[in-house]
Amino acid sequence: MAKWVYLFKEGNADMKNLLGGKGANLAEMTNLGLPIPQGFTVTTEACTDYYDKGKQISDEIKGQIFDALKVLEEQQGKEFGNVDDPLLVSVRSGARASMPGMMDTILNLGLNDESVEGFAKKTGNARFAYDSYRRFIQMFSDVVMEVSKSKFEKVLEGIKEAKGVHDDTDLDADDLKDVIVKFKDLYKKELGTDFPQNPVDQLMEAVKAVFRSWDNPRAIVYRRMNDIPGNWGTAVSVQAMVFGNMGNTSGTGVAFTRNPSTGEKGIFGEYLINAQGEDVVAGIRTPQPITQLEKDLPECFAEFMKIANKLEEHYKDMQDMEFTIQEGRLFFLQTRNGKRTAHAAIHIACDLVDEGKIDEKTAVLRIDAKALDQLLHPTFDTEALKAGKVLGSALPASPGAAAGRVYFTAEDAKNHNDAGERVILVRKETSPEDIEGMSAAEGILTVRGGMTSHAAVVARGMGTACVSGCGEIKIDEADKYFELGGEVIKEGDYISLDGSTGDIYLGDIQTTEASISGNFHRLMDWADKYRKLKVRTNADTPSDAENAIKLGAEGIGLCRTEHMFFEPERIPKIRRMILSKTVEDREEALNELIPYQKGDFKAIYEVMEGHPVTIRFLDPPLHEFLPTEEEDIIALAEDMGITPEEVKETCESLHEFNPMMGHRGCRLAVTYPEIAKMQTRAVMEAAIEVNAEKGLNIVPEIMIPLVGERKELKFVKDIVVETAETVKQEKGSDIKYMIGTMIEIPRAALLADEIAAEAEFFSFGTNDLTQMTFGFSRDDAGKFLDAYYKNKIYESDPFARLDQSGVGQLVQIAVERGRKGRPEIKLGICGEHGGDPSSVEFCHQVGLDYVSCSPFRVPIARLAAAQAAIKQADAKK
Ligand code: PEP
Ligand code: MG
Repeated sequence: MAKWVYLFKEGNADMKNLLGGKGANLAEMTNLGLPIPQGFTVTTEACTDYYDKGKQISDEIKGQIFDALKVLEEQQGKEFGNVDDPLLVSVRSGARASMPGMMDTILNLGLNDESVEGFAKKTGNARFAYDSYRRFIQMFSDVVMEVSKSKFEKVLEGIKEAKGVHDDTDLDADDLKDVIVKFKDLYKKELGTDFPQNPVDQLMEAVKAVFRSWDNPRAIVYRRMNDIPGNWGTAVSVQAMVFGNMGNTSGTGVAFTRNPSTGEKGIFGEYLINAQGEDVVAGIRTPQPITQLEKDLPECFAEFMKIANKLEEHYKDMQDMEFTIQEGRLFFLQTRNGKRTAHAAIHIACDLVDEGKIDEKTAVLRIDAKALDQLLHPTFDTEALKAGKVLGSALPASPGAAAGRVYFTAEDAKNHNDAGERVILVRKETSPEDIEGMSAAEGILTVRGGMTSHAAVVARGMGTACVSGCGEIKIDEADKYFELGGEVIKEGDYISLDGSTGDIYLGDIQTTEASISGNFHRLMDWADKYRKLKVRTNADTPSDAENAIKLGAEGIGLCRTEHMFFEPERIPKIRRMILSKTVEDREEALNELIPYQKGDFKAIYEVMEGHPVTIRFLDPPLHEFLPTEEEDIIALAEDMGITPEEVKETCESLHEFNPMMGHRGCRLAVTYPEIAKMQTRAVMEAAIEVNAEKGLNIVPEIMIPLVGERKELKFVKDIVVETAETVKQEKGSDIKYMIGTMIEIPRAALLADEIAAEAEFFSFGTNDLTQMTFGFSRDDAGKFLDAYYKNKIYESDPFARLDQSGVGQLVQIAVERGRKGRPEIKLGICGEHGGDPSSVEFCHQVGLDYVSCSPFRVPIARLAAAQAAIKQADAKK
């Protein structure tokens, strides 16, 4: 019989895949002898089984849950469902990877109308008992039955208002009884049934709800953003309750062993006296700093610090801990490696190396490569900031500078961002449903919530600037405006947020680029020591190239030459070239373009100082260059001595039904060899001149795009060779050069051995390769991919994360066959996947020589490449 349920004492920290992060760590803490309320974990495999069986929990799993519950009853000396002294439990989710706010928690489960009376008598604290029950009704209704908790909050607000009090803690036992009656009425009104009174039903429904929450839309979005596979499932931990809401010697809190924003060593956290867990994370009451605990309950604080240090020592990483104090007794409810900003992650990793707790390789593995993006985020321009009007200030919850138009719902924020606006999401408080709006926002501002509130935790994870807990704001979410600092800010108005200081500004303040710290370079040096893949950049301008070099690029893997033709003085010339009716006219127009193109190449070569530069010949369909505005058409007609009608006719004749699969790539050079000649001349002359001027030894790499057939490549290559040799002769140069191709058509991947006979290098153009393999337009797939995610057909965007099973197979085939055709062939990738960590890992595994990505993703690729190499070496051990 399979084992579906583990008591805490039966597990350990290595069982994350089965018990989830939370379950595994609770087991580990139990083994360490720490004060943990005991319980059991229903495994992730049980979750998968639940889905396999059409969302049913099998009798075998149920039986094991009841057996574990029996053991827990014995341990606690209390009976589940007993009316005089009931055992109460919490039910919490825990996937392999922590997914903050994605899964839901239910506390105080096991209470009903009868046992709440017994519980009140037994504890001698009626207020506490009714408070626990009303919380349970609210949480169960929200998490299990999906009745919005705001409806319950409204009822609670109404009762507080009627009584003229501000805080929940000002309500007494009788008030809470009233709350319970009204909550149950609401439940019945919303769902048509009475609130469930049988604790076993409550438990089974709660377990199912946690399983279901694995697949709620916000969990699916979070998984997509964090590369978490949909088949992992979540575990469920059932734990005996301890109570932080038993009065003023009770409380609950969240703390980190190091500062999750800055990485600074030292305890950092918040707690609330007389409260239950969700009060702290939900941000409904504004919590106290953890240091206040030392004054309120010094013995608890001392014990807390001892255990916190022990946990960090044990896991050798910064811990994020939840604790509860029940009448002066401290319990730990969970620990995990804390989420942190990229800046903090690097600071902590370097400190841990210096403290001798981890080695360099571990430090490299500790950093989420994608999160490095955060370090490259903007800050405010100092001068612009001085002129800005400060509206107010609140908690600096997630660093970075952000400016944009204000929107009050996640949906509005997302829609306006989709329409191209920079947006700031302003909310009373955020909840997991807001994830897409948060991710679309430049910055997030909340009225409620502390540094560990949902908004703060999620924004830090995303690297989005966030200012939270701004109680001074008077917000009207329905009419979409807020008041702060004497100003009324309406939907669509600009504000700016400084997530590092907590300041909120009126208007659209200019931002400046981020700068990186010494620790960053230290970490990058370690990464460079262990990686095997080279990292190049995709850059078309000297300034992009310069930027990429600063970020560690070792060459240019893709210089898209078409981007050089869009400047105002160049575009008429390329238009003339396209519209030319004779080869002579075309050559004449191209000759005028040579100096520009050569100048661009020279500037790039100079910046790259001898690092390899791959120049990709003209690729897009020609009509992309053609005029559409009347004035441009007239200007072009005048320039060419033809009528505007003739221009229009030619433009129309170039129209294609399917331009992405049309007259583009090397097909342009097959029809108009003079284009390839011009580009070859520009590349060769530029390299020869820069070599002479700067004493460099540049070996130009000429890349022919969109090849699908060896003879096609050979045709273009012959033109390139002939021109290059002519230039060499003219200049008396013996410069070396290389000719290679992109692999971006499935046929080229399949016939890679033949194609390699003509190519000294391959660069995988996985943007087109993905487009051609899926048959999805790379420009339009976004319109229907959402439906694919919702229906669990695809989990992630194949244009962002390489589809390893399909497109990846073509890459692998091309690598093998390419090397068969030419053993010394150089292999790289220059599609967008070159800067995506999971795709970089794949590139390492299939044995590419380099990846190439946009300049700001170069550090991500360097780190991801090192992580791939270290993981592979570790797996071999
Ligand atoms: C590609 O197709 O992956 C590629 C890098 O070329 P482009 O994006 O310019 O088509
Ligand atoms: Mg392409």
